[in-house]
Amino acid sequence: MIKLNSNVPEGGITEKWSNHKFSMKLVNPANKRKFDIIVVGTGLAGASAAATLGELGYKVKAFTYHDSPRRAHSIAAQGGINAAKNYQNDADSVYRLFYDTVKGGDFRAREANVYRLAEVSNNIIDQCVAQGVPFAREYGGTLANRSFGGAQVSRTFYARGETGQQLLLGAYSSLNRQIHLGNVKMFNRREMLDVVLVDGVAKGIVVRNLLTGEIERHSAQAVVIATGGYMNVYFLSTNAMNSNATAVWRAHKRGAAFANPCYTQIHPTCLPVHGEAQSKLVLMSESLRNDGRIWVSKKVDDKRPPNQIPEEERDYYLERRYPAFGNLVPRDVASRNAKYVCDEGRGVDGGRAVYLDFSEAFNRIGKDGVKDRYGNLFDMYQNITGVNPYDVPMQIYPAPHYSMGGLWVDYNLMSNVPGLFVLGEANFSDHGANRLGASALMQGLADGYFVIPYTIGNYLATEKPEKANPDGNEFKDAEKNVNDSTKKLLSVNGKQTVDAIHKKLGLILIDKVGMSRDEKGLNEAIKTIKELREEFWTDVKVVGKGEELNQTLERAGRVADFLELGELMAKDALNRNESCGGHFREEYQTPEGEALRRDDEYSYVAAWEYKGPGESELAKENLEFTNIKLATRSYK
Ligand SMILES: Cc1cc2nc3c(=O)[nH]c(=O)nc-3n(C[C@H](O)[C@H](O)[C@H](O)COP(=O)(O)OP(=O)(O)OC[C@H]3O[C@@H](n4cnc5c(N)ncnc54)[C@H](O)[C@@H]3O)c2cc1C
Repeated sequence: MIKLNSNVPEGGITEKWSNHKFSMKLVNPANKRKFDIIVVGTGLAGASAAATLGELGYKVKAFTYHDSPRRAHSIAAQGGINAAKNYQNDADSVYRLFYDTVKGGDFRAREANVYRLAEVSNNIIDQCVAQGVPFAREYGGTLANRSFGGAQVSRTFYARGETGQQLLLGAYSSLNRQIHLGNVKMFNRREMLDVVLVDGVAKGIVVRNLLTGEIERHSAQAVVIATGGYMNVYFLSTNAMNSNATAVWRAHKRGAAFANPCYTQIHPTCLPVHGEAQSKLVLMSESLRNDGRIWVSKKVDDKRPPNQIPEEERDYYLERRYPAFGNLVPRDVASRNAKYVCDEGRGVDGGRAVYLDFSEAFNRIGKDGVKDRYGNLFDMYQNITGVNPYDVPMQIYPAPHYSMGGLWVDYNLMSNVPGLFVLGEANFSDHGANRLGASALMQGLADGYFVIPYTIGNYLATEKPEKANPDGNEFKDAEKNVNDSTKKLLSVNGKQTVDAIHKKLGLILIDKVGMSRDEKGLNEAIKTIKELREEFWTDVKVVGKGEELNQTLERAGRVADFLELGELMAKDALNRNESCGGHFREEYQTPEGEALRRDDEYSYVAAWEYKGPGESELAKENLEFTNIKLATRSYK
């Protein structure tokens, strides 16, 4: 059984990180260049880590399957990044950001990590401003802020609706500087397909060159995985089409514990599904909830256009049910409520959509005022739907968006496999059972710029790991493993496309392991996913060869991993007999339909050990709340 030690430092919550930084061992500057570090993934978490480790003098090899780090999914982030600067003088503080995040995550995150996240949030803004990230500013030149869900203060820094893109340009510039200086070697178009352990310690990876199909072995003294989230397991999601779970899943198969896989976030403000041939769902940033009001008709199956539904016949259901937070309730609450009103038949035209209406904001700040804040989001909506949102309210519905689950890590961001670190959305994160808006960018950059540079140094200085020989048996075995699975995929030669099977998996998951779950549905999901996995391995058709550019083969490998992960998500959800955050079990709800947590029995991180396809063993990390009192979340 896996042993989990969170390695949270001693001391009061406000001193832990400072004390830890001081007590950690350092690598002498002249010795840093003797250490090779592999960083897989160059989104915000990976690019910031690779750049900073390069700047410190380590020799970094960075890998991405994209043709440039500039293409990472992180560029999609629209709304903003949180920090506790309190520029608004509205009573924000490190403690309040810590409090909001622990509460927003429904008390299922590790307190010490979350406090550190809030603490370094302010450094991130300083760092990015120094890099030239063009955050929005007030008339007087100070940085502007807006509000996001789950907070009553304005702490979100933004660059119009393209914050992720601008932050990534900053990290990418720093990364390029290190590439130019020779401290970082960049490997584009490489997909990590296995992690190599020597005597139980992570010492390298095996990658496939996606252009030639060639398999390469790379060794190092530490491996950092920053490969993003797994929401494409649902097939339809807001994630970039290529985002996948292969890197984390292959690490899981080598012994890294997978934590809280059932904690998935279904984001409330996305474009509704419009047909069966669709392959992508589009997010409309949560920032729109600052000024947009969400409503449905009070009548069931109301087919009238929105402008013919009079004010008194509209139900602003979030404002009605949660007067304190209104439209800015956290995502899990907003999504569930959208589902409820649509289940009642009160969605747009009786279907699966609700209105996001700016008419009050147009009256208050004018159309130009709205355009200043959200112009590119409005343009995007019009380009996709053909409807002008300045004239007709937007239609939105929840869509799979962010994975709070991921590889388990300790306080130092190291997995239970020594030498294997995990950053950004790929780790099980600081967001507990529900991530608050604008906190993912904060966490990814905190991990990359401000946590890993310290903790990896401590590991290298303490353990002094030797570099492994890439011609050693462990590397040869891993390469054989990769080649064998390629051959297996190519040899099935069945009738179904990879996408057809992926779509079936997505439908099972969204139906049974989506916004609400119950025991019966979860047992059915486990059974049908097992059957679907059989179907995949007997009937999938993967055309082409391994020794060439072959996108069908790439996708097949990823879907094979999703088929195992999907089953674990259902198992984890079945194990957790409570409702918390994004994990809503029908059996556990209050009379008002709110999530019913069961702290006595489930105040733990569920970390699963891989025991073969469909087989896993549960280990638990107990969560203690000594600084914030466990309480039922209320946004009323
Ligand atoms: C539409 C949208 C809008 C969002 N808006 C916001 C927002 O406003 N604020 C906020 O805080 N969060 C937002 N998020 C969430 C946030 O963008 C992500 O959580 C975050 O960017 C993830 O960063 P990352 O570095 O962990 O991963 P990613 O950006 O996904 O990067 C993953 C990297 O890993 C590489 N990779 C993956 N697998 C492999 C492999 N096997 N081998 C080699 N390379 C691999 C990829 O090439 C890529 O470089 C949004 C998300 C979406 C989808």
